[in-house]
Amino acid sequence: MKQDNCIFCKIANGEVPANTLYEDDRFRVILDLGPATRGHALIIPKDHYKDLFELPEETAGDVMKLAKRMIMKMREKFKCEGFNLVQNNGDLAGQTVFHFHLHLIPRYGADGQKIGWKPQEVTPEELAEVRSQFVD
Ligand code: AMP
Ligand code: ZN
Repeated sequence: MKQDNCIFCKIANGEVPANTLYEDDRFRVILDLGPATRGHALIIPKDHYKDLFELPEETAGDVMKLAKRMIMKMREKFKCEGFNLVQNNGDLAGQTVFHFHLHLIPRYGADGQKIGWKPQEVTPEELAEVRSQFVD
């Protein structure tokens, strides 16, 4: 399952070159062209799925297993101290390439990056209301 004009389909399947850290029959892991930090990598499935909503559940599990293997080796090789895993779904959420990918972002002391959000104030009643909207 490939999609015409999808840059990550082309990269994952070897039609466009990239700096590959790992490859198997289902995934390619490449270095991001606009890295947050040294070694910032992307896990890209070779099949085209727009986002996590479209990704089959089993593949989602396999992505996380691969992430675990990758960060173990990346920590050893790059000597980083922490990791952020980031995965954007939808343009509102900051997704810019609409082929599922998981960011692996090594963290180093004083790397100058801040990956996070501004915590909002919330009351216990508001939390209970949110929960009741979700749980039947
Ligand atoms: P997102 O905003 O989650 O969709 O992330 C897309 C990421 O893909 C960004 O971090 C880009 O720097 C990266 N990117 C876009 N095009 C390429 C490319 N040709 N090779 C490597 N990384 C890319
Ligand atoms: Zn694609």
